[in-house]
Amino acid sequence: MVTETTPNSFKNQPDERGHFGQFGGRYVAETLMPLILDLEREYRAAQSDPAFAAQFDDLLANYVGRPSPLYYAEGLTEALRMDAPTGKGAQIWFKRDELNHTGAHKINNCVGQILLAMRMGKTRIIAETGAGQHGVATATVCARFGLPCTIFMGATDVSRQQPNVFRMKLLGAEVVPVTSGAATLKDAMNEALRHWVAHVHDTFYIIGTAAGPHPYPELVRDFQSVIGKEARAQMLSRINRLPDLLVAAIGGGSNAIGLFHPFLDDKDVDMLGIEAAGHGLDKQHAASLAGGKPGILHGNKTYLLQDDDGQIAEAHSISAGLDYPGIGPEHSWLKESGRVRYDSVTDKEALDAFQLLCRTEGIIPALEPSHAIAAVAREAVKMDKDKIILANLCGRGDKDIFTVAEALGTKI
Ligand SMILES: *Cc1c(COP(=O)(O)O)cnc(C)c1O
Repeated sequence: MVTETTPNSFKNQPDERGHFGQFGGRYVAETLMPLILDLEREYRAAQSDPAFAAQFDDLLANYVGRPSPLYYAEGLTEALRMDAPTGKGAQIWFKRDELNHTGAHKINNCVGQILLAMRMGKTRIIAETGAGQHGVATATVCARFGLPCTIFMGATDVSRQQPNVFRMKLLGAEVVPVTSGAATLKDAMNEALRHWVAHVHDTFYIIGTAAGPHPYPELVRDFQSVIGKEARAQMLSRINRLPDLLVAAIGGGSNAIGLFHPFLDDKDVDMLGIEAAGHGLDKQHAASLAGGKPGILHGNKTYLLQDDDGQIAEAHSISAGLDYPGIGPEHSWLKESGRVRYDSVTDKEALDAFQLLCRTEGIIPALEPSHAIAAVAREAVKMDKDKIILANLCGRGDKDIFTVAEALGTKI
């Protein structure tokens, strides 16, 4: 799993202290430092241990259901060509990570981290969750390996995400409502970090996105890079060429970096990360790169939504998984380096894209990748017909039908 690099590679990051350019690092309390260093040591050992890779690959194949298919979305491609200028309308392909066990990409990372936890001899697992998707994926791997699991979840989220709270409990996890701050994801992550310091001897913290103190952004990226590695190999074997443009939705940025990273040194492959513009960039949103500035949260330096006093602002998106006021530090660096473009999509645009995919492909996507699909539609009509867009379909929409019904004014 060691990343291969060349001197000018975009894959050379982070440095030995976890910096992606000026971003990342490990801004943690003195008491957390030994844990973080211990985790890093164990991760390096795991990276060079073929037995670790073999176990990870076996679980991804036989428990998660990988490799996920690479799919040419002919129905969507043709529908978009009807409105495109003559000769325009790129071919659209999807990486079908919504077909994974538990319905999204999050399980890839949870499998990797629980193997690391067991390697370190830890006997209990904690995690934070916002909408509950990462909580469900963590509770799933804990049930699989028989480890007790405690999930910290903002009290506000507990009351608005009851189905996922119930799922976590069915899987045997304890869900702890967090009432500090706005009682949402940011507060749940603060509480999980606090709890970790006090229980470090037996506890492993599974972080759900490519954020947090070093080495988390790196190891989450590496576990999620299975998405891009598979997609790159599948493209080459199916049509013997690479895509022209990659598109992925960004909450903290783990599915996006997982798709992008294996392609970073393919100079002709353009990349586009999509943040949630919520009600609009001039109103409430979750677009940290477009509307935030660099600051420090959850152990790393990155772009954050904050007010003039540096207080972290509440994010908003119709998609609970994109509702985070920060972004993984590698994305902040990829933006500043110019290697990846970033743009945003509103709630309304995502809802339209959600319905478009349902009707043209018979696939009900999650609201998170619906943001990516809206951007794909925007880009495809500007590109020639022989160009190829590959987007990550990172989650399925079963969890979102109530939100969508309400937004469309339907009672179910
Ligand atoms: C959690 C989630 C996201 C956002 O997380 P990233 O770390 O940005 O990938 C996106 N899509 C789905 C389906 C999710 O569950």
